[in-house]
Amino acid sequence: MSRLMQRHIRQIGTLLRVSLAILLLCAVVWHVTPTTSAANGDNYNYLSSPDRKVPKQQRSPQKSNTKRDTTRKETISWQQLQQMFPQHYFLHGTRDKRQVALSFDDAPDHRFTPQVLDILATYNVKANFFIVGERAKANPELVKRMIDDGHEIGNHSYNHALLTKLTLAEYQQQIMETNRILKKITGYSPRFIRPPYGEVNKQQLKWSAEENFIIVNWDVDSEDWKNNPSSEQVMMNINRTLKPGSIILQHAGGGSGQSLMGTIEALPELIEMLQKEDYQIVLISELINKSPIR
Ligand SMILES: [Zn+2]
Repeated sequence: MSRLMQRHIRQIGTLLRVSLAILLLCAVVWHVTPTTSAANGDNYNYLSSPDRKVPKQQRSPQKSNTKRDTTRKETISWQQLQQMFPQHYFLHGTRDKRQVALSFDDAPDHRFTPQVLDILATYNVKANFFIVGERAKANPELVKRMIDDGHEIGNHSYNHALLTKLTLAEYQQQIMETNRILKKITGYSPRFIRPPYGEVNKQQLKWSAEENFIIVNWDVDSEDWKNNPSSEQVMMNINRTLKPGSIILQHAGGGSGQSLMGTIEALPELIEMLQKEDYQIVLISELINKSPIR
């Protein structure tokens, strides 16, 4: 074998080893990167980059948690949290009354919130809005209007963080800062917290309960956060799990590029459908029989 050929073979060998090392590194990075840290309803591109994918496995209270529990032992299902904190963690109200509550997350947003408020006013229906602190700061007049119109407001964190990724101190800051902003605008300190993506851990929930907060998630996900759905799709999603006592999740604010026209177009239809089916639309405070003020 010529010397030139031997050198070539050595070079090819080196190249192969380097390629293999790069491949291994890629595999490790891929493996440790969390893919669906926020795999839940109320999941849109509020803070994420446009290329963030909608998680393949969407988690809802009904079908969620057996699967997740087997894969991630440290997490607790919504039902388990509900059993641990029956007075401070709600997914729905009593099933014995034909009542439901409408809830709108990620407000205020000047593109969508006024339209939602106009429709609710037309039908004289009251709803719950879960407010992002930094958005309230940007649009305080919309928060004020919610209260003037007779709606209830709740805390949806300061900047829509995935709270389970935060320390307890950071969680407390998200909640307290948002309540401070909302109190300044409205004069009262909201008691209901809806964590972004519905995600809160046991330690955070324990502190919230001690501080007289109540976590309110949902049992009906309109999935209006997912792929800008049509009003027909929104109605179908709602009807899938709607029953007496339900808390319906919708949105009155979105990320850039997101459209909530499906929600806005479906809203009159939804209200009329509920009324026709003899449902009373009530505020969450009435549905779970708790004061909305801390
Ligand atoms: Zn949200």
